[in-house]
Amino acid sequence: MSFASLGLSEPILKAVSDQGYQTPSPIQLQAIPAILSGKDVMAAAQTGTGKTAGFTLPLLHRLSSGTPAKANQVRALVLTPTRELAAQVADSVTKYGSNLSLRSTVVFGGVKINPQMMKLRRGNDILVATPGRLLDLYNQNAVRFNQLEVLVLDEADRMLDMGFIRDIKKIISFLPKQRQNLLFSATFSKEIRTLAKGLVHQPVEISVSPPNSTVESVDQRIHPVDKNKKSALLCHLINDNQWHQVLVFSRTKHGANKLVRQLEAVGLNAAAIHGNKSQAARTKALANFKAGKVQVLVATDIAARGIDIDKLPYVINYDLPNIPEDYVHRIGRTGRASESGHAISLVCADEFPYLADIEHLIGKLLPRELISGFEPVHNLPESSLDRRPPKAKKPKKPKVGHKDGQRSGDVAQGHKVGRRANSRNKRRGNN
Ligand code: ADP
Ligand code: MG
Repeated sequence: MSFASLGLSEPILKAVSDQGYQTPSPIQLQAIPAILSGKDVMAAAQTGTGKTAGFTLPLLHRLSSGTPAKANQVRALVLTPTRELAAQVADSVTKYGSNLSLRSTVVFGGVKINPQMMKLRRGNDILVATPGRLLDLYNQNAVRFNQLEVLVLDEADRMLDMGFIRDIKKIISFLPKQRQNLLFSATFSKEIRTLAKGLVHQPVEISVSPPNSTVESVDQRIHPVDKNKKSALLCHLINDNQWHQVLVFSRTKHGANKLVRQLEAVGLNAAAIHGNKSQAARTKALANFKAGKVQVLVATDIAARGIDIDKLPYVINYDLPNIPEDYVHRIGRTGRASESGHAISLVCADEFPYLADIEHLIGKLLPRELISGFEPVHNLPESSLDRRPPKAKKPKKPKVGHKDGQRSGDVAQGHKVGRRANSRNKRRGNN
């Protein structure tokens, strides 16, 4: 199957072939015709499967006919959870639309709002936005939706995880009822289906590769180690194995910064990306990592989510995520095509509850390997898969701590995330 057979116009096909794409990915094969037909679409596929082109190409096709956007108007709105992702989607829109005369722009928090207002003033066929900043702009009358034809939620599962549900609902309430809705996500969780109920109408449902399938192709192991020895162990592993490009996950922003300092202190070239870094700093760190100038990139889950980094041979969990699904997302970052990847977790005794949750989710116990010289003093308990399920108490509805003026991509309203209990229902407060 070629892109041409999917019904896309010549200028789009040319842009696609300029990108070097030869055949549509499985998700594109299904999503593109469905979206071109004008129906609502719900699509789930893992990170890296080409979802962006999956909605952007048919969107461009649709928008290339019809009335261009008038002042302050937007014809298609793409919502994404993070600034990085917004910037990436906007880049793709520009690339795939390079032979069309459509206007697009991107808005997100953490940077000045005025230039964004200027760009909105001229009207845009496509606007890519994070929810918080978009609401700010809407409240200042910088954007209008009378001409809106299509709404896209990208990484919808992550938007829910990040507590954007209220913002999303509010934004939807401003949109014309008659519109096409596209919902893209890594998985179809129960929460996604609930959101979808109020959003998509008689959708075409597309799902490629079942959730958690990456787990099979990745060599996973854990090194039990004391908390205060983790950074030394990481340096040891990097030097000993001569890893040249390592992605390291940290649960917290503070932890990421501290680790970067520790790595730099022993002469390693490291950088951090997380929600407290300026957009410029994050973009630069990512570019330097891709170019091989930064050897170790330390990322929080939210910052790493959806970022387009080629798959790496090694992914290190410096600490375990408190949301077990994040473990699956993290290790999905490793394993290049046909090669198997390695996901290595440094686990201290305190993290045992997280480990148990992860092993429960993936349905297997992770092999343990002690590294000589780093054997822990604080014992990591043995785990077992047939733990009794906790009594099915209805979890309390978590409060979504959305303060006014909170910027999208910055989920920094720090409430402590407790250990384990109902971790899937917890809102992140700590990335
Ligand atoms: P997702 O949103 O599913 O995580 P992306 O849309 O970010 O994935 O795409 C991942 C990578 O695959 C990008 O680098 C993109 O340029 C590339 N890509 C997308 N579609 C194709 C294709 N049909 N052929 C080759 N590469 C593709
Ligand atoms: Mg994506």
